[in-house]
Amino acid sequence: MDLYEYQAKELFAQHQVPVGPQRVVTGAAEAADAASEFGLPVVLKAKVKTGGRGKAGGVQLAHTVDEARDKAGAILGMDIKGHVVRRLLVTPASAIDAEYYLSFLLDRANRTFLALVSAQGGVDIEENQDSLARVPIDPVTGVDLDTAAKIAATAGLPASSAEVIVKLWETFVGEDATLVEVNPLIRDGDGAIVALDGKVTLDGNAAFRHPGHADLVDTEAEDPLEAEAKAKDLNYVKLDGEVGIIGNGAGLVMSTLDVVAYAGEEHGGVKPANFLDIGGGASAEVMAAGLGIILSDPDVRSVLVNVFGGITACDAVADGIVQAFALLGNVDKPIVVRLDGNNAEQGRKILDEAALPGLIRMDTMDQAAGRAAALAAGA
Ligand code: GDP
Ligand code: MN
Repeated sequence: MDLYEYQAKELFAQHQVPVGPQRVVTGAAEAADAASEFGLPVVLKAKVKTGGRGKAGGVQLAHTVDEARDKAGAILGMDIKGHVVRRLLVTPASAIDAEYYLSFLLDRANRTFLALVSAQGGVDIEENQDSLARVPIDPVTGVDLDTAAKIAATAGLPASSAEVIVKLWETFVGEDATLVEVNPLIRDGDGAIVALDGKVTLDGNAAFRHPGHADLVDTEAEDPLEAEAKAKDLNYVKLDGEVGIIGNGAGLVMSTLDVVAYAGEEHGGVKPANFLDIGGGASAEVMAAGLGIILSDPDVRSVLVNVFGGITACDAVADGIVQAFALLGNVDKPIVVRLDGNNAEQGRKILDEAALPGLIRMDTMDQAAGRAAALAAGA
């Protein structure tokens, strides 16, 4: 999960990383109020989950309350890299003596953590990551004051930044983040090191250790079908095509997406409408929940159920499909089913005998994908 800047800075503050005061506002008048309460000048920042706001005009300095109102009005409604600005972050403006860049991230290729650091932080560095110094971090020993001092020295950051670097590492570890990025980390007019921006990605696999992280989810921005799927513990991702997809096992579902996209090229370019992995135990309830979500997606015109029987054999999955139809009642979109693997014959027989309305059984994955794509295209 990617966090907004204000959320990242709230986590920083909990780990004693210096950050300034901030307030999220929804309108120009509210921005003006915040400006007069904080004192001038203030910085107005678009609340969107993307970098490069500065270059897009989404970060503005205001020297008067009127200017804060006008500039807030201009930023609200802006489109920054496909994100429409609905809220602003208001902060008292800091005097900047120097801008640095620092991030901690997971270095999968080298099976370790990595610090990226530069004494030339700011809006240009994100386009030119080659200029960043890379310091591998031993995951066992982590970043103590000595290591932090070395990281700072590598890139020419002041020695006084070491303490903040340790606190940022503590945020990274303590919150189970896979990314903590601060750009810019500044030295302000008083010589203090302050995080002026923040980007944090939390590892969803560690969510069970952090009950508080649930509050960080932006339910307004979340896709409603994805939210419903999450509530039902389904592994669902909404895509922008027309063929609903259900499969058991992430690998099988991924290859199903490819095969459907390929078949769709012959049918006016129809594409998969979602990723949905119902996992190993494809029970009737899970099948019904999955089908229910997919059928309620107005973009879906046909559904492909692609199951390879393993521990949960095809006859059990077929029973699940039959019961799912009963649970759902009216299924008004064609559903193409391909069953293979353990007990495939029994499973196919169950489906054939049930003669479910709108259900079309195909023997191979290619045939099934072709049929589902054709149906989505209206053929
Ligand atoms: P981003 O462009 O989305 O990464 O947004 P940032 O929050 O990093 O802001 C972009 C740039 O605006 C920074 O690199 C600074 O140069 C400038 N900026 C942001 N906040 C302040 C501030 O409080 N005072 C001053 N003087 N400049 C700021
Ligand atoms: Mn930034």
